[in-house]
Amino acid sequence: MNYMEDLRSKNFEEIVEIGNKFGLAPFKARELYRSIHGKGKESLSEITTLQLGERSKLAKQFEIETPKPLQIKKGNRTIKAAFELKDGKIVEAVLMEYEEERKTVCVSSQAGCPIGCLFCATGRGGFRRNLTPGEIVSQVYFFAKMHQITNLVFMGMGEPFLNYNNVLSAAKNLNNDLGLNIAARKIVLSTIGIPAGINRLAREPGQYRLAWSLVSPFDRDRRQLVPYRSLPSIPNVVEAIGDYQAKTNRRITIEYVVLRGINDRMKDIKEIIAISRHLDCHINLIPYNETIPGKFENGNIEKMYSELRNVHLKVTVRQSLGGDVQGACGQLSAKLCGTESRPPRR
Ligand code: SF4
Repeated sequence: MNYMEDLRSKNFEEIVEIGNKFGLAPFKARELYRSIHGKGKESLSEITTLQLGERSKLAKQFEIETPKPLQIKKGNRTIKAAFELKDGKIVEAVLMEYEEERKTVCVSSQAGCPIGCLFCATGRGGFRRNLTPGEIVSQVYFFAKMHQITNLVFMGMGEPFLNYNNVLSAAKNLNNDLGLNIAARKIVLSTIGIPAGINRLAREPGQYRLAWSLVSPFDRDRRQLVPYRSLPSIPNVVEAIGDYQAKTNRRITIEYVVLRGINDRMKDIKEIIAISRHLDCHINLIPYNETIPGKFENGNIEKMYSELRNVHLKVTVRQSLGGDVQGACGQLSAKLCGTESRPPRR
């Protein structure tokens, strides 16, 4: 089989190396990178800064893989897109317009998710595979054709720290000033709490931001809601975040989806306060968006908010967008007309 490599999965250094190998002048390798990651070109034939002969030589080994948008749903200040990957898997991403000047893309890092949170549609669908760097950036390039993207959150399908290399490779291309030039501090990696990934992020030179999805402040309840076999304990995650903050001096966000009667009780609030005393953090309370009718209910956010504020914690309530297109937090499922995947396109 003639295996083609995806240029969207290559970083700047790799494109320069390819340029050297194919006899491109250094400025042409730069232009090739800019065309792929800055202009979102979808085939080598569109890159007219290269001569026809240069493009033909490259096209024998490389392609620019562009996942096909299968379904686009427009809602109130949101657009959800489902993409079909080369092997037929489907992933979703959402563009959210919080303010005129702030356009955020919620990106998927895996097809499905191995963590399996009970309140999340992605988790219930199981895990398919990791996305390549090209498949990750492609979700953003699709929306970048409509709007200038200012912020990214890795809060779509998947656990980004279980696909660390590809996620960081994608983030670096999105941050590159020849690419979309999205500031690293506007790129948030949201994790269920994988210490190995937190430790690696602490050593990255870019100021990428970290968010921890706490789910419950008690390990026993947390394990019931998040049935991932290797789920680290809360003290282990707190320790990893403590080391991360000692190295980076960066505040983190604790994301907390509020579930009625499950994690919004007074004892939960007290324990969240105790955990947050160990960290420099901001707590973001997230309304529960229905994924299974009747199973969970949105919790008492107002009460949590005022109790946490009363002890002077930094706390906000997530402005929930995307519910009208089944694209809010926890609702991405890659289900189109009842199917989860389709046959390969080629
Ligand atoms: S909430 Fe996040 S970590 Fe949990 S199953 Fe859904 S995508 Fe995975």
